[in-house]
Amino acid sequence: MTSEYEIHMSKRILMENIATEIKVCRKCDLWKQRRNAVPGEGSLEAFVVFIGEAPGYYEDVKGQPFVGAAGKLLDELLSDIGLSRTEVFIGNVLKCRPPENRDPLEGEIKTCTSYLDQQIKIVKPKIIVTLGRHSTSYIFSKAGLKTEGITKLRGKVYEIKLFGFQISLIPMYHPAAALYNVGYKDELERDFELLRSELEKYRR
Ligand code: URA
Repeated sequence: MTSEYEIHMSKRILMENIATEIKVCRKCDLWKQRRNAVPGEGSLEAFVVFIGEAPGYYEDVKGQPFVGAAGKLLDELLSDIGLSRTEVFIGNVLKCRPPENRDPLEGEIKTCTSYLDQQIKIVKPKIIVTLGRHSTSYIFSKAGLKTEGITKLRGKVYEIKLFGFQISLIPMYHPAAALYNVGYKDELERDFELLRSELEKYRR
């Protein structure tokens, strides 16, 4: 029988292999301007995977997700519900920073999300939180659901089947949007409470 340790180690090797591939990826033009690709990071046994949009300036400098102002807010929201970054997995739709933080292009999303798909399959989370419209519409489409604006979709838990396993999907506003809009911040805090109650179902 395979032990938990063996499963963890094989997950680690798989995730490291993907990260190595991402760091030298040249499948779209974004590699030309990157300082660092940002594969994502966190626990491979996480119950929750957060999916953002793409690295920004500080993420590109450090090679880590959500380390700028939006990341600080994400850390606070996590801490408010008793979670730390090391207990969750944080990734992005795109692994390299688009110039001037422009929106991801359709072709970039199509090319890059094979990495995200592999990461989700490795972690096999119970819950996925999509942050903002790009990750929300990607996961909604992947699950065969009709995607709409984030304002309409947020505030609810969607039971979806993704890659053959059951996942509770919680779409939320992107923390960067909440930095400039107090209303969004209130809703984000409410949605983190929703996440907290959803997590209660799985916490041992
Ligand atoms: N915004 C994102 O969507 N992802 C990051 O990693 C940082 C900011």
